[in-house]
Amino acid sequence: MKFMPNISDEKLAKKVGRVLKKFPYKIEFHVKDNIVFLYGKVPKYEDYLEIGFAIGEIKGVEGVVNKIEWEGMPKEKIEAKNKWRKEVFEKMKDRIIGEFDVVIIGAGVTGAMIARELAKYELKIAVVEKESDVSLGASRANNGMIHPGIAPEPGTLKAKLNPIGNKMYDKICEELGVRFKRVGSLWLITTRTLEKYKFLIGPIRTFVAKYILPWLIKRRAKSRGIPVKIIRNKKRILEMEPNVTRRVLAAVYVPTTGILDPYELVIALIENAVENGVKLFLETEVVGFLKENNVIKGVVTTKGTLLTRFVINAAGVYADEIAELAGAREYTIHPRKGTIILFDKSLQGYIRHCVAELIFPRPKRTKGGGINPTIHGNIMWGPTAIEVPDKEDTSVTKEELQLIFERFSPVLPRFPKNRIIRYFAGVRPATFTEDFIIRPAKWVKGFIHVAGIQSPGLAAAPAIAQLVIEILKKEGLELKPKSNFNPYRRRIKAFYEMSLEEINEKIKENPDWGTIICVCEGVTKAEIIEAIRSGARSIDAIKRRTRAGMGRCQGSKCILKIAEILAKELGIPMGKVLKEGPGTELFKGKVKS
Ligand SMILES: Cc1cc2nc3c(=O)[nH]c(=O)nc-3n(C[C@H](O)[C@H](O)[C@H](O)COP(=O)(O)OP(=O)(O)OC[C@H]3O[C@@H](n4cnc5c(N)ncnc54)[C@H](O)[C@@H]3O)c2cc1C
Repeated sequence: MKFMPNISDEKLAKKVGRVLKKFPYKIEFHVKDNIVFLYGKVPKYEDYLEIGFAIGEIKGVEGVVNKIEWEGMPKEKIEAKNKWRKEVFEKMKDRIIGEFDVVIIGAGVTGAMIARELAKYELKIAVVEKESDVSLGASRANNGMIHPGIAPEPGTLKAKLNPIGNKMYDKICEELGVRFKRVGSLWLITTRTLEKYKFLIGPIRTFVAKYILPWLIKRRAKSRGIPVKIIRNKKRILEMEPNVTRRVLAAVYVPTTGILDPYELVIALIENAVENGVKLFLETEVVGFLKENNVIKGVVTTKGTLLTRFVINAAGVYADEIAELAGAREYTIHPRKGTIILFDKSLQGYIRHCVAELIFPRPKRTKGGGINPTIHGNIMWGPTAIEVPDKEDTSVTKEELQLIFERFSPVLPRFPKNRIIRYFAGVRPATFTEDFIIRPAKWVKGFIHVAGIQSPGLAAAPAIAQLVIEILKKEGLELKPKSNFNPYRRRIKAFYEMSLEEINEKIKENPDWGTIICVCEGVTKAEIIEAIRSGARSIDAIKRRTRAGMGRCQGSKCILKIAEILAKELGIPMGKVLKEGPGTELFKGKVKS
């Protein structure tokens, strides 16, 4: 949350009125406790966005609930969903399935981190997740970068929590057996960096780029306690990253940037939380709330009702709808899609750091993406930042891929782009105030917003969890530390990480360690069976836990073998094997195997 001047609704309303006059549409509004509600009709989705942004930028606005309609808005779909929620609510509200101190909605990195943090106390905690597995929202499709915390705008909650979260990762990953590496970032200042500032003539532009710009970055980093090093020696930069553009003038090196596998992290957090008593409800969608005098009493889901005093709304792109169901809507989420291109592992070492070329002026409302190695040795380019009306829109277009290639090819001019193995998109849960919204609801007691968790949400997650604990304490939750909390999670070493001796030992114990199913990633039958026995119920759930199918052939050689193992382990016919959740059967009709 940006620094909020103490401003009355009356004054804020005047400001909002002035801003709305700039738009040629009849927009009604009202302001309540610094939240602005907008109503009206506009021709295009872009108009809806622009009005929302303009209001969100007003100092003192703590949330924008944008109820403006645009032509082509899928109203029927929204109404059908609301009708369905009401029907399920009526059916389920009296079917009590448990009583908890805190119910967390959403098993992405935010919900998982909060769950594990709360598991340290004598509390009854539940996590409810609508999907068939954890980490299936934004936490599945991101760059896995633990940003250092320099990029967020000063005065925002992002700027406060990102550097704190970053520092906490070594301990968390060590305890959970999650692979984590501080590879560092190298931000390149090139002849393109200030190219658009035509009024700066040649040598002045170079001077500003080489001396003023890195100094400004260092000053901001210093104010946040983040170490950086300015490198103005081109030879040194090319020693650090031999494949980057020769047009580089200087670089800012940030050693604290880290990389990890985001779903490995979420799975580990949830496993550890569950081991410490947290109850996980999968395929359990929240449809409403029980309240008495605007105090939360329960969460109604598709499986029944969980009685509780506190609700944590960590529902990602759906956080606004969840808040609405509780009568606590203080913001609108406008989905912002990000596409990423993934390159083959054979390029491991082509870059050593997370590399980005600084280009000014920076595109509004995005850090601009970059190039980063993954913890498994692949290389990623992206993401883009594209506003989409549909929260489930993870499509990837040719134009987006072209955009990524055009943006990043000049950074690595000789990069073998033909070694692309996959592209995918994730959706960021952006709000119009463009900051995390982490606070108790203004009008409903017991409801805590953890919304607008867009980038750097992964990096900030440990600090977000800490902040939520503080809020819960202030709201009256008694926090008695649990004496038997076990912070450690046992991780079985992957086959590809083992020495020959270790492999031989394993094969002696269980011959399945000698059967390689996924050749690209070196995943054995034993690992796949272990993943199924610890909860994986679909091809993709196995993939996220073992990496089977993540390699160059993207599963074309092993998917059938994995399906056979899954069918055998679960005792189901091949026709019932799922790619992901319900309705994603891998095969149609009879399967001969
Ligand atoms: C392309 C891309 C790249 C990114 N790269 C980075 C990066 O490198 N570093 C970084 O720090 N951040 C990055 N981010 C941001 C980061 O991914 C997010 O901030 C983070 O994953 C948000 O996690 P979350 O748990 O809040 O949301 P999510 O992961 O979306 O989880 C929300 C969960 O709530 C569940 N849910 C929703 N509605 C209901 C309901 N009614 N009932 C029950 N459950 C429900 C959903 O199914 C989902 O699992 C990136 C984001 C994108 C899209």
